[in-house]
Amino acid sequence: MLGRQTIATINLSALEHNFDYFDGLALNSKTMPVIKADAYGHGAVEVAKALEPKVSAVAVAFLDEAEILRNSGIQLPILLLEGAMKPEELSICARENFWTMVHRKEQFDWLRDLPDIQRPTVWIKIDSGMHRLGIPISEAAKVLSDNAELFCSDTILCSHFASADELANPMTLSQLSSVLALSEQFKLPLSLSNSPAIQGWPQTHQAWNRLGIGLYGGDAIIEQPNTNVKPVMTLVSKVIALRTIDAGETVGYGQTWTAQRKSRIATLAIGYADGYPRHAKQGTPAFINGQRVGLVGRVSMDMITFDVTDVETVKYHDDVELWGENISVDEVASYADTISYDLLAGVSLRVKRCYV
Ligand SMILES: *Cc1c(COP(=O)(O)O)cnc(C)c1O
Repeated sequence: MLGRQTIATINLSALEHNFDYFDGLALNSKTMPVIKADAYGHGAVEVAKALEPKVSAVAVAFLDEAEILRNSGIQLPILLLEGAMKPEELSICARENFWTMVHRKEQFDWLRDLPDIQRPTVWIKIDSGMHRLGIPISEAAKVLSDNAELFCSDTILCSHFASADELANPMTLSQLSSVLALSEQFKLPLSLSNSPAIQGWPQTHQAWNRLGIGLYGGDAIIEQPNTNVKPVMTLVSKVIALRTIDAGETVGYGQTWTAQRKSRIATLAIGYADGYPRHAKQGTPAFINGQRVGLVGRVSMDMITFDVTDVETVKYHDDVELWGENISVDEVASYADTISYDLLAGVSLRVKRCYV
C-alpha cells in the first residue's frame, strides 16, 4: 500500500460477540443495534451486513443515513431516531420501510394529512426528563389519546435516559416509572434502554432495547468497566520519522513538552484531521513493539509525536496502535477529557477502514 498508512481495522467477529453478549443480558427484549454516525465510525453498511442475520431492525439518526443502508442492499426496517424533519419524508419512510420517531405533536398532524398507505410505522418518543426530544410527559396522555388511530401493530412508546451510566442516580427509575404508567394506560410496548441501561438497569429492559456503544466495545458505564466486551476498532498508524533530541529541547507547536533527558522521538502519520483528539494530554498512551509509550507535544493536523526512548527496537515504518486491542479507547478518551463515543465516531473519512 502506498501513501498514508493509517488504518482502522474493524473486527466483525468482536462486533458479533458484543452483540450476542448484550442481547443475552435481556432475553425477553429485542436488541436494536444503533448504527447512526456511520456506526460510531465503524462503517454502517458493513456493520448492518454483519448483524442482519441476528436482528429484526436497526436504528440511525435521520433519513440520509437510512437511505445509504437501503441503497446498499440492507433490507431490515430502519428506525429514524430523530424522526421526519419535513412532512415529505413520511411517504418515503412508508415506501422504504423506515420506522419514524414521532417526537413533536405536529408530526402526528403531518401523518394524518397522508392517505393510510403512505403512513410509515411510527414510534412515539416521550420526554420523561432528558429534555432533548419527545412529547412532554405532562402532555403525553392527551396527545396519545388524540392520535391513537395513527398507531400500528409495530408502534412502540420510547424514551431516553439522561443518566443511566450513573448507577447511584435516582433519575433512571423516576423516568422509568413515568413511562411505565403511560405504557399501561395505552397498551403500548416500550423501548427505553441504551447500552448503560442494558448493562446496569435490568428493570428497564422492555420490548426493544437500543444498543449503541456496547456493540463497539466502549465502556457503557465508566465506573463499571465491562470485561465481557471486546474492542472492535483498532486504530494503527506508522512511524514516519525518528530523531534524538537533547535534554532541554522541546517538541511540537507551542513547545509544550521539554525533554528532561536525551530523548528519542517518533513521529506518526495521524493527527486531529484523522480524528485523533487534539486535546490529548502529554502521556496519552500508544502501543508499539509490545510496549506502552506516551504522547509528547501537541497533536498536529496530520502528525503526533511519542517519546520512544525506552523502546530501543523502534524503527522507521513500525506500526503503532493508538487504541484497540492493547490500549482501550476509553483510556485514550479519559486522557482527552472525553468519552469513547466521541473518539470512535470522530475517526475521519481519510482513515481507511479494513474489515476482518
Ligand atoms: C444514540 C442513541 C442510543 C444508543 O446509545 P448508547 O449509549 O450508545 O447505547 C439509544 N437511543 C437513542 C435515542 C440514541 O440517540
